[in-house]
Amino acid sequence: MLEEYEKKRHFEKTPEPSFSDLKESSDKTIFVVQRHDARNLHYDFRLEIDGVLKSWAVPKQPPKKAGTKRLAIQTEDHPLAYANFEGEIPAGEYGAGKVEIWDRGTFELQKHEEKEIVVTLHGEELKGDYVLIRTKYGKEEKGWLFFKRAD
Ligand code: MN
Repeated sequence: MLEEYEKKRHFEKTPEPSFSDLKESSDKTIFVVQRHDARNLHYDFRLEIDGVLKSWAVPKQPPKKAGTKRLAIQTEDHPLAYANFEGEIPAGEYGAGKVEIWDRGTFELQKHEEKEIVVTLHGEELKGDYVLIRTKYGKEEKGWLFFKRAD
């Protein structure tokens, strides 16, 4: 599942992790949101599912309250070690720019279907039930809507 991740990167140039064998000591599943100041500033939302970080790029800060829907574009799976990554991806490399962890924590997967994922997040910024709904976006249908569910 990580072929696409590895294909896009030159590990002799980027400080990003190249393998997936780093795992937090906790046996709970983790999520991370990385603020990525790339060509376009965005937030990368990643959920540990099936041993990798399923990933979405969210063009604006993820909502802390219900009522705001964000577009989330699914991107390639990332290795679990990526949840600890912060740093500067060099100019000319894929995703060039600064990566900072904006939020991180554990989560429970409440629903995992082809077109809908529901998670309960336990972060500092994001807490509560969040929903991802697959929508049509371009040819590849990688667009999802991402929002907090009302309590
Ligand atoms: Mn990114």
